[in-house]
Amino acid sequence: MGRKVAPTYATLVLGYLEIKLYEKVGEKFGEEFKNNIIKSWKRYLDDCFIVWEDSIDKLMLFHEELNSLNPNIKFTIEYDQTELPFLDVMVIKRQGCIITDIYYKSTDTKQYLLFNSCHPRHTKNNVPYNLARRICTIVSDNDLLDLRLHELHQSLKQRNCPQNLILHGIQQARSHPRQDLLQIKNKTDKNVLPFVSTFNPKNPEFFQVLRSNATFLQQDATMQRVLNKFEIIKSKRQSASLKKILTKAKFSDVIPTETENNVQKCNNTRCGTCPFLQEGKDFKFKNGSKFTVRSSFNCTSSNLLYVITCNGCGENYIGQTGDTLRHRMTVHRQQIREPKYQCTPVSGHIRNCAKDVFPNFTVFPFYKFHKKTTEIERENKESLFISKFKPDLNAFLK
Ligand SMILES: [Zn+2]
Ligand SMILES: [Zn+2]
Repeated sequence: MGRKVAPTYATLVLGYLEIKLYEKVGEKFGEEFKNNIIKSWKRYLDDCFIVWEDSIDKLMLFHEELNSLNPNIKFTIEYDQTELPFLDVMVIKRQGCIITDIYYKSTDTKQYLLFNSCHPRHTKNNVPYNLARRICTIVSDNDLLDLRLHELHQSLKQRNCPQNLILHGIQQARSHPRQDLLQIKNKTDKNVLPFVSTFNPKNPEFFQVLRSNATFLQQDATMQRVLNKFEIIKSKRQSASLKKILTKAKFSDVIPTETENNVQKCNNTRCGTCPFLQEGKDFKFKNGSKFTVRSSFNCTSSNLLYVITCNGCGENYIGQTGDTLRHRMTVHRQQIREPKYQCTPVSGHIRNCAKDVFPNFTVFPFYKFHKKTTEIERENKESLFISKFKPDLNAFLK
């Protein structure tokens, strides 16, 4: 189910299987049995119902026949000696007769439209009548009918529906004889042209304006043809609720920003880090493993992990900083340039290994911490990546 044509297919398939079923039970159990089945077999799409007047054993045999019609279609069976729900109807056996009651699923919380909800007045006004009408159509027993209408009254009251509106709706529904309500309505396809506008109680009603100017529209030959053929009806589209405004189900809003994640130079002419910054989304470690960034970086990014590549030997070094990448690299460069600042072995290595190369190293920031971090938290993450990618310059320096 779910697709628009699914109900049509279900009806066609089940209708075909029914014909097969009648033939089969005729062969197996005789003509009389077959005719009884045809008479009492009811179905809505793929939900079937039958009043069974034979033994339970025979019902089981019948169920087997049903399941042998097509290997891909299996029917589950539910049966009861006193009552059984079918769609929204509870069918009850009482003193040799069958009565019907309305059936609500146990998950039904009866959250009917709140009366102070932002909906057109006529929609809200019609809620009690439509609900009461459904009850009057389904419930066959008078005592049960009183009970269900009383329950409806209570539920609607909880949804802030005014007392007089509830009473009026129920009274109106009750005024129809049940025989009339049970009649299948023939929907006549009127040629209607909906005039759709978004409902907002603060807006003036455009439909009235349109209607009062219909004669004006008649002056145009094309419009006249349209207006003669169709009746213009008022149609309201629901305006966005808070839920609709605040929640997003679309993924398209997320994906583009993710594909934009990469490392870029800040391109500030005075930036000393730009010449050393490796750009792109991916980083390939000397050992062959690849890493794709999940954030965007430039020289001014901070609170991150970076990987340095010595341009003499191509080996890697993973480091961390809470400071900006630019500032951290200034310190690195200073250490590489002047032995007296040399606090980290990696600076000493680059100074010797990439003596005649410019730039003597490149840096690639690859992991951004999205919240404020402590040095220890960053060091823990750094250790994790070091153990994962095993960069040579971290290994032999420790
Ligand atoms: Zn820069
Ligand atoms: Zn090196």
